[in-house]
Amino acid sequence: MVRVRFAPSPTGYLHVGGLRTALYNWLLARREGGQFLLRIEDTDRTRLVEGAVEALLDSLKWAGITPDEGALVGGPYGPYVQSERLPIYREMVDKLIAAGHAYYCFCTPEELAARRAEKEAQGESTAYDRHCRSLSKEEVERRLGAGEPYVVRMIIPDGREIVIDDVVRGQVSFDSSLVDDQILLKSDGFPTYHLAAVVDDHLMKITHVIRGEEWLSSTPKHVLLYEYFGWEPPKFAHVPLIINESGKKLSKRDGDVSVEAYREKGYLPEGLLNFLAMLGWNPGDEREFFTKETLAECFSLERVRKSGAVFDFNKLLYINGLHMRTIPADKLADMVLPFFDKAGWERPERDYLIKVIEVMAERANLLTDYVEPIPYFYKDPTEYEEATVKKRWKAASHELLSGWADEMKNMEEFTPEALEASLRAYAESHGVGAGQLIHPTRLAITGVGNGPSLFHMMEVLGKDTCLRRIEAALKVLA
Ligand code: GLU
Repeated sequence: MVRVRFAPSPTGYLHVGGLRTALYNWLLARREGGQFLLRIEDTDRTRLVEGAVEALLDSLKWAGITPDEGALVGGPYGPYVQSERLPIYREMVDKLIAAGHAYYCFCTPEELAARRAEKEAQGESTAYDRHCRSLSKEEVERRLGAGEPYVVRMIIPDGREIVIDDVVRGQVSFDSSLVDDQILLKSDGFPTYHLAAVVDDHLMKITHVIRGEEWLSSTPKHVLLYEYFGWEPPKFAHVPLIINESGKKLSKRDGDVSVEAYREKGYLPEGLLNFLAMLGWNPGDEREFFTKETLAECFSLERVRKSGAVFDFNKLLYINGLHMRTIPADKLADMVLPFFDKAGWERPERDYLIKVIEVMAERANLLTDYVEPIPYFYKDPTEYEEATVKKRWKAASHELLSGWADEMKNMEEFTPEALEASLRAYAESHGVGAGQLIHPTRLAITGVGNGPSLFHMMEVLGKDTCLRRIEAALKVLA
């Protein structure tokens, strides 16, 4: 039975890289008929952010990557929040001490800093100097008895080659001499990530640890811990970093990194997930459109690549557009309506919005594309884009438009076909090209130079609105 986990630390929001990690775990569980767990790793008390757990869960729920077991959902291996498991870690640490795999360390932060500075000045390694490894049993007892603060460190043997068989990266080997005597239990009684993750992965019967590449260098410590405890380690799969165009780790400076930001910008969960899935993984063929379900059918860790995956914002937009166009207009309308509230605009009638969506569908890649970029569907323009006026409003425009508007008044059918026929006939009878009328009409009705098909848009707006706007524009652009 495959059991995988997503184990975020609640230090803020859900990062897109975190969502990709969660997705890969979820996909493997779905594909293998296994279970996907959510564990909250909140043992670093200095980095806790209030409301971060809720924000995380909210983003996961929006994405539809929901756990089968874990924090909030419950399950047989709980609690799934590490701060509620302190006695378990204490017991495990005591076992390691008793077996000679870990030791008490009483070095104070000040002492450590001073010794580190000294070594740095001499150009030596600044790793922990293992000072407390050699304290006598009596001294340890005495200092514990006196209530001195301490941490517990694991013993890292010298000169061992630790080999990890990573599903993504193949064999990776580490020289143990370069690994620090890692702190397992901190002076506040909380475990470090390393101890807690290993203990929990074992007790929660995790079979595959799928996580970001940044954790690869910690894995030798984890492997040693499994060995010390006499436990079978899980399979490890370290997925590539998400990088920007210049090969650096994606950061806020490159653009949005929180899942919430994409949600607010009008991305669909399906679009974001499809895009993220393919950051570092590919199906082995040309397909690029996937739902979570079709991904789960073909996902495999073996097709995750080693090198960094470039976050291409244009590609994300494109993929999102593909998903947008699979959703029927009436369903899209319900998804778009809340964005009017966010924009501080009055909500249009639902039926009217459906018509707007039908006209705009080919051009919209985001839910928000149906709101801010097309104000003219919801309000009369109050300004006319200067560059477009310069380019499109010619000496003859006023007379032409006002003449055609008069004809429009008598039109019985206000359909795209009828409008186009009428415009073309009018232009021809006045010896000008259709463009001489099309561009000024668009400018008058929308205030801008670009948009969807003019005649379809006019039908949606309706005759009264079109005539009112043309009249207003003729006054301003006189
Ligand atoms: N708590 C770690 C994080 O925030 C999890 C690392 C792991 O999956 O082992 O990324």
